[in-house]
Amino acid sequence: MSFTLAIIGRPNVGKSTLFNRLVGKRLALVDDQPGVTRDLREGEGRLGDLRFTVVDTAGLEDATDDSLPARMRRLTERAVAESDLCLFVIDARSGITPVDRIFAEILRKRGTEVILVANKSEGRAGEAGLYEAFELGLGEPLAISAEHGEGMGDLYATLEPYAERF
Ligand code: GDP
Ligand code: MG
Repeated sequence: MSFTLAIIGRPNVGKSTLFNRLVGKRLALVDDQPGVTRDLREGEGRLGDLRFTVVDTAGLEDATDDSLPARMRRLTERAVAESDLCLFVIDARSGITPVDRIFAEILRKRGTEVILVANKSEGRAGEAGLYEAFELGLGEPLAISAEHGEGMGDLYATLEPYAERF
């Protein structure tokens, strides 16, 4: 039994840091198509005894402000279509931004299964953002620190039921 998990969120919230923590060096082989930007990165994720496919939405970083919403929408739609559930990552230190709200709306409208993750929650600096995250209407945020490896036990407990379902 396995499932595909997409990591979604605006640039700089720590998606790739979380991807790297879950995948390590086990990057899936992707066939390079010339001229096509690979903006979804896929790898074999591990957390405890769980095995799953992880998709990092990596194509937003070089978007200009003008093209960001459109690219976000396109990438997010693709990632959602290719996955069983989404980890929607927000930055607990910077709090909720308008772009986070756009993402939340896309995900709510799709009716996709979402786990809300408040990254950068190590120490006390993340507390305000954690409470703000409730406003997104996506349930209780899971406080983690991708960089420091905190909250991985909670993430495991949240993902475990999916491993049985899919
Ligand atoms: P992405 O654009 O969403 O893929 O974000 P990145 O993974 O590239 O991370 C953006 C920045 O946030 C980098 O400077 C990371 O080192 C930093 N970062 C990622 N996770 C954490 C975390 O748990 N705590 C803190 N304080 N910084 C983090
Ligand atoms: Mg990234």
